[in-house]
Formats: sequence, C-alpha cells, structure tokens
Amino acid sequence: MLDMSIGGRSKLLQNIGQHLGIDGQSAPDINLKLNGYLLLTKESGAEQLIQNQRLQTELGAQIDLLSPAKVNSMFPWVNTDEIVLAAYGVRNEGWFDPWALLMAFKAKAQSLGANYMNGEVIGFNLKNTAQTDSDGHNIQTCNEAIIRQSDGTVKALAFGTGIVCCGAFSGAVAKSLGYGSDQSGVRSVALPIEPRKRYVFVFQCNDGPDPDRCPLVFDTSSIYFRPEGKGGNYLSSLCPIEAEEPSVDNLDVDYSFFENTVWPQLAHRVKAFESIKLKTSWAGLYDYNTMDQNAVIGKDPYYDNMYWAAGFSGHGIQMGAAVGRAVAELIVHNKYKTIDLTRFGWDRVLNDQPFRELNVY
Ligand SMILES: Cc1cc2nc3c(=O)[nH]c(=O)nc-3n(C[C@H](O)[C@H](O)[C@H](O)COP(=O)(O)OP(=O)(O)OC[C@H]3O[C@@H](n4cnc5c(N)ncnc54)[C@H](O)[C@@H]3O)c2cc1C
Repeated sequence: MLDMSIGGRSKLLQNIGQHLGIDGQSAPDINLKLNGYLLLTKESGAEQLIQNQRLQTELGAQIDLLSPAKVNSMFPWVNTDEIVLAAYGVRNEGWFDPWALLMAFKAKAQSLGANYMNGEVIGFNLKNTAQTDSDGHNIQTCNEAIIRQSDGTVKALAFGTGIVCCGAFSGAVAKSLGYGSDQSGVRSVALPIEPRKRYVFVFQCNDGPDPDRCPLVFDTSSIYFRPEGKGGNYLSSLCPIEAEEPSVDNLDVDYSFFENTVWPQLAHRVKAFESIKLKTSWAGLYDYNTMDQNAVIGKDPYYDNMYWAAGFSGHGIQMGAAVGRAVAELIVHNKYKTIDLTRFGWDRVLNDQPFRELNVY
C-alpha cells in the first residue's frame, strides 16, 4: 500500500466500481482508507503550510489547520514538542493499494479492447525520422522501437503515436532517442530523470495509535508513518539526504538507515514507538527529476508523434489518473481540455526553469 492525498480524485477512487468496474465481475477493491493526512510543522514551515492550506481550500479540499493543543486533543499520542502548527485532511484524503488500482485500470482497458505486450525498449530506429506533413512541412517522427521480449528475442515494433512513461528509466529512454547527444538544438539537452532508491519499513507496535483513527503523519523530520492494516502494524519511511543517496545498483535494504535514522525520529514523535519490532521492508526506485522533482508531461519537443509522462519523483501514484486523462486529451484533441498541464512540459527542461512543488513533504 502506498499513499496519496486523494483530493480531486476521490470521485474516481471512492466510486471505483462505477469507473473501472467490468460487466459480470465484482467491483475492484483498492482498499481505500480515508484516515486523512496530518502534516506537522515547526516555526520555519508554518507560513508555507498556511499558504498551502489556503490554496487547497480554494480548490475544494477540506484541510483544517490545527494548533498543537488541538493536535493533542485529537491525537493524544503525538508528542507536540517543537510543533507550532499542523494541517489535517478532514475528508477525502488517505491511502489505498496502488497495485490493485493499476490492475483495475489494466483490466478495464483490456475489457475495452486494449492489447498489452511485455518487452523492454532497448532503442529506437532513428533513421529516416524526417517526414513531410499534409501541409508539406518537414517534421521529425520516430515510428519504430527496438524491443527485447521476455524470451530474449529482439524485434522492431512499429508505432504511430508513442508515449514515454518508463518511470525511473525515462532519462535512459530519452538518451536512446538522442537527447543529450546533439551539439545544438533541443536534443542537446538530456532529460534529468534518474532512479533513486527508497526504502519502506513495516513495523509492529502493540500499543500504537488506533489504526481506525490514525492518519498518515508527516513529521517535521520528514519521516512519515501510517497504520498498515490491523494487527498493530505501521508503515514508515524517509527520503535520505542528497549526500547519502544509496546506490541504485541493487534493491537491498539498508537496515541501519531504519535503526539509526528512522526509528529514533518515530520514537521521538510517538512514545509508544520506542518499543517496536521491524517486520518487513523493501526498496523501490523513485523516478527522480534532478532538476525540480516534478514530472515532465506533454508533447515531445523534437518528435512530432511522441509524448511524455515521466519523472514524478515519488508522487506519481496520486497524479497518475489525472495525467493519463490529460495526455489522452492532448493526443486526441491536440490540446489539454479539462486539465491544463502545460507548465509541466519539456519547455522548462530546455530552458532550465525549474517548476518546484511547494506542498511536498
Ligand atoms: C518506495 C516508494 C514509495 C512511493 N510512495 C508514493 C506515494 O506514497 N505516493 C505517490 O503518489 N507515489 C509514490 N511513489 C512514486 C510512484 O510509485 C511513482 O511516481 C509512479 O509509480 C510513477 O508512475 P509511472 O507510470 O510514471 O512509472 P512506473 O510506475 O515506474 O512505471 C514505469 C513502467 O515502465 C517500465 N519500463 C521502464 N523502462 C522501460 C523500457 N526501457 N522499456 C519498456 N518498459 C520500461 C517499467 O518496467 C514500469 O512498468 C513511491 C515510489 C517508491 C519507490
């Protein structure tokens, strides 16, 4: 289970059967848990939290600002030392099982006629990319990917429209499209998306916060935790600081990171977490945009028939459905209709103009 602020997508997630149900089958179960998020801040982050809450409220979210005393009365297990303010998602906020959601999207797409094939794109045929459009203008297109299939065989796959959404490996795919290799022009710029290893830890605490009422808590130290099902299990993690980024050569878990960095901060914020037992852990790869930790979405600046939706930098699950809709609109209508994501486009990469999110924890 991973996490998200559900916000505007609550209609999709809360009515999943209506949107992704398939005739004759039971509605998908994404294990939606609407316990809200509780963001704790020190003095240095208070003004930003107030501004974020104002914007979220204007956009229809129901986020309350809480004083430390209010936090204490609602969640008495939180140690409010150094906390000056908190924001709590009162409604339509929580977490769900993202794999179940992904499978529900896939099953629905297949029921509507989509074909899936497995294979790794190991390159593109970039010969003869110049074509002429119906007005006689020269345009660049890329119409053939080189695929390695699961049995090891390699074949060329022709396509009309391509969307690069290869997560952590999107920077590498951009390289195979020529980005970062030309002496001048748009393809002289590399796409700054790379893998970054992140850990998730699940621990048990018999006297921890009530799982039916415990929100996902983001601490001032940037650790987060939330209940993981019943049975006294909680899930937690923290992003390492830039200077201590672990190698991405393997997906091994560094248990000392939990012992030395995560656990002490958990125990500081919730006294009951002084006594816990680590049950399981895993590592995954963030799709990290080193320029501004935000996704690159929209039309390719060089190839007329290609689009991008990549580099979500650890918050792609909560954006995925909206981005899918927006990119579909861009392809079908040649413009965004319901959600304008122009600001996420390649232009900012080409012009080195970072677009930073102010509501990241
Ligand atoms: C530990 C961890 C915790 C996270 N927690 C959250 C969270 O709480 N909330 C949130 O919103 N997000 C979270 N994320 C981030 C989220 O998982 C990603 O942002 C999201 O999955 C990105 O979706 P995507 O479809 O762009 O890429 P992915 O989900 O990575 O999918 C990319 C796909 O492309 C495939 N692929 C890659 N290269 C190639 C190639 N050359 N050829 C063919 N296929 C290829 C991959 O196999 C994969 O199937 C977390 C990530 C991690 C690792």
